[in-house]
Amino acid sequence: MVMEGPIAYQRIRNISDNVTNDWRKTYPRVFQRRVMRYHRVPDETIKRLPIYLRRAMHLSEVGVKCVSSTELASLLGVTPWQIRKDLSYFGGLGTRGVGYNVESLVNHIREILKLDVVRKAALVGVGNLGSAILAFPGFLPFGLEIAAAFDIDKRKVGKKRNGLIVEDITHLGILKEQGITLGIIAVPGDAAQKIADELIKVGVKAILNLAPRYIEVPKRVKVITIDIALYLARLPYYVPSK
Ligand code: NAD
Repeated sequence: MVMEGPIAYQRIRNISDNVTNDWRKTYPRVFQRRVMRYHRVPDETIKRLPIYLRRAMHLSEVGVKCVSSTELASLLGVTPWQIRKDLSYFGGLGTRGVGYNVESLVNHIREILKLDVVRKAALVGVGNLGSAILAFPGFLPFGLEIAAAFDIDKRKVGKKRNGLIVEDITHLGILKEQGITLGIIAVPGDAAQKIADELIKVGVKAILNLAPRYIEVPKRVKVITIDIALYLARLPYYVPSK
């Protein structure tokens, strides 16, 4: 059951108040599940978590041990209140007057996002964009690995791209065998819906859709669509006219 509004908030406060820090550290997953059972975390919060994670990982790499929400906020262009509020959905983490232990912050956000184990994703469409995605090393630090790639073009099938053999699209069923539940769609717009349907049939539960199409999926499946053109199209509005 998902409750929203003041009652849910009060329940979270009660849980947070009753659970000691030690308990939360010893049983982080249990704590997180209990908190999340009573409250739907806003998508906007989930959107910001990878941004916090990336910054915290960087701070950890350069040897910073502790960071305040004010320092973190100034590095990210959000308010300290926003960071505290976002993390409070998961029981908070900081110590008043001290801030966040950077390593704990990294581990905690990884756990929340379920990135504390390597997550495998499948790519469909090994064209210009798909090839660039396969060659991009920036997913690994988040614990994401592109473990399978598919295409319909016989000239590409069977060839190696960045260490992966491109599979025929008719072999999507191997995702079920491999337990891969994340999918990336990089096919032309007209093929996107069909590919989404097929991915869902073989057990994919969350899709990054890069095709410029709205795709319909059952409620249990999460789709995130990204289209750089839509961001670029906003830019001229902000350029002063002569
Ligand atoms: P592309 O033509 O180079 O590649 C498309 C690939 O998909 C090809 O290899 C093709 O063989 C394969 N394909 C086509 N139908 C298929 C099917 N049914 N099953 C499996 N594979 C299939 O195109 P691209 O430039 O790589 O663009 C791919 C998609 O990404 C397009 O929809 C494009 O509009 C979109 N795109 C999005 C962004 C963004 O910002 N999200 C940026 C660039 C391109």
